[in-house]
Amino acid sequence: MARQHERRTIHVDGEWRDAISGATRDIIDPADARPFAVVAEGDEKDTDLAVEAARRAFHEGDWPHTPVTERAALLRRVADLLVRDREELGLLESRDAGKTLEEGRVDIDCVADAFRYFADLVAAEAPGRVVDAGSSDIHSVVVHEPVGVCALITPWNYPLLQASWKIAPALAAGNTFVVKPSEITPLTTIALIDLLTEAGLPSGVANIVTGPGHSVGARLAEHPDVDLVSFTGGLASGVKVAQAAAPSVKKVALELGGKNPNVVFADACATEAGFDTAVDQALNAAFIHSGQVCSAGSRLIVEESIRERFVAELAHRAAKIRLGRGTDAGVECGPLVSEQQRAKTESYVASALAEGAVLRTGGKRPEGLGDGYFYEPTVLDACHREMRVVREEVFGPVLTVETFRTEDEAVALANDTEYGLAGAVWTADAGRARRVAGRLRHGTVWINDFHPYLPQAEWGGFGKSGVGRELGPAGLAEYRESKHVYQNLAPKPVRWFAG
Ligand code: NAD
Repeated sequence: MARQHERRTIHVDGEWRDAISGATRDIIDPADARPFAVVAEGDEKDTDLAVEAARRAFHEGDWPHTPVTERAALLRRVADLLVRDREELGLLESRDAGKTLEEGRVDIDCVADAFRYFADLVAAEAPGRVVDAGSSDIHSVVVHEPVGVCALITPWNYPLLQASWKIAPALAAGNTFVVKPSEITPLTTIALIDLLTEAGLPSGVANIVTGPGHSVGARLAEHPDVDLVSFTGGLASGVKVAQAAAPSVKKVALELGGKNPNVVFADACATEAGFDTAVDQALNAAFIHSGQVCSAGSRLIVEESIRERFVAELAHRAAKIRLGRGTDAGVECGPLVSEQQRAKTESYVASALAEGAVLRTGGKRPEGLGDGYFYEPTVLDACHREMRVVREEVFGPVLTVETFRTEDEAVALANDTEYGLAGAVWTADAGRARRVAGRLRHGTVWINDFHPYLPQAEWGGFGKSGVGRELGPAGLAEYRESKHVYQNLAPKPVRWFAG
């Protein structure tokens, strides 16, 4: 596999380097709170060098002009290398982000899928769209060109997956980039840079600066020589990125948080199998990766008539989720990614209880798991819209329960959020399913399912969940400028001006 670069984790113009300042950062294993790797702690100076290299590669290098078939072939080679290194990368992701090993492996499969998808998409396209100008003397065509230097800023929950949703389309479209992974979980993104080199990507096209958001991220967002910033992360940071990017009028794409509703109608639970499935999926929606998922189904909105039975079974199963180090056999849920994330979760639970929520299970750190950042899957009943825990993204294993009596009430509760990333409706009534799905103001709506996404379908949010889309054709379009080339084959004077 790609070698690990102890400390020299900044990649500029094809060279691995230390931070100019010499600063480093320990990478912590969230399962035991101990450091297990060291990376360079870059800052604004390292960022400027990386942007310069990406700019040079864009203006002077071949990548933007490389035929799309060759670009696609390179992306497919990257996918093959990811498959080759699946086990080691999956393990690294599990260790770094605290997810189970199986989740880490699935993440790497999804990363490879993203590279293949964008390779296929770009290879299948026509080189331009001929426009009928209404005259045989005019040849008019709209072509796509790369945007230029892209700054790609990613979070810690799906480190390599989120990076791949940016890197694959950016490369497919012919851009150069500087990626800044989360300072908490940079390891797999560092490893990917080596795979890009191994696949044959020219020097300077792919650059990485490891370091914090307030220096590296902020400098990328404001940098006058960056043409596009694509950011995935929290709402507060996203707003700062948009503000920093505004003076230089760069393109901005934001993938932010969610407060995602999981709406369960009683008819979905009319049979034992239906009940079992809806409970099982509600559990998965809320607690996979300890709830640290932007699309986590953190708001259960359940029909009043089945509430007691549904919540009792859900709490019973949540209490049985096996917590532990993600690489240990039989573990179903790992720790939270950091002490800060656990403290945030604890504060939301405390405020919910103070505001009248009823604790059905969880609500504390588990016994016997040492110093890792573990927190029990938590179900909070009797929640209502005024509670902070219902309105704000917790990003931890906390599920709130609200109830409804009518379809209108269910839709109103589901849409009662400033976010709008994803949501689900569970019902046995096909007409109701379509009606409710049509009324939900969320970028992804699942009917009788939760969490699946497809690389060929756009991902992104309404409202404060973001601006722009990743994946799908729109996820490629983000990384392009379109250019209209209008050719007059028989030019003659216009005579607008008499003289
Ligand atoms: P975060 O906002 O703290 O950090 C995200 C990235 O931005 C990190 O690399 C960080 O260093 C950087 N950053 C922080 N401040 C910055 C600034 N001022 N300027 C530029 N960069 C800055 O988010 P996080 O805690 O790493 O991730 C969790 C958040 O990400 C959650 O809100 C989650 O919902 C969201 N998320 C969204 C999606 C999606 O597809 N919509 C996917 C995954 C995660």
